Amino acid sequence: MYLVANIDQEICAATSCRLCTQYCPEANTIQYGTELGKDKGFKYGSAYVSVDRCKGCAQCVWVCDNMAKHKAIKMEMIDQIGDQALTENISYHEKNTTAVLASPWKS
Ligand code: SF4
Ligand code: SF4
Repeated sequence: MYLVANIDQEICAATSCRLCTQYCPEANTIQYGTELGKDKGFKYGSAYVSVDRCKGCAQCVWVCDNMAKHKAIKMEMIDQIGDQALTENISYHEKNTTAVLASPWKS
């Protein structure tokens, strides 16, 4: 088991700051879902972590705590995070490559 970043959707969706998405060193690992949380009445959507790409560096935690001042991200053991953080792989095609990303898991 290992630690991954887990974003509190409720805190994040209240801000729409998107700061952490600019600092994660792993490409396409923190992304922003504009529709996330709207079913719960949140207006702006929320950042989310593709946990299968997260390397556990905690840089996003520092950014959210100290730069954004929102404290929405915690490092948690991957087997302890809730279902909302699970992801399924999706792929997209660019000119010569196929990239595999992940999106929030939905049943
Ligand atoms: S820095 Fe924090 S509040 Fe801002 S988008 Fe990231 S998780 Fe959400
Ligand atoms: S812990 Fe590191 S790799 Fe994982 S989402 Fe945060 S900044 Fe990206």
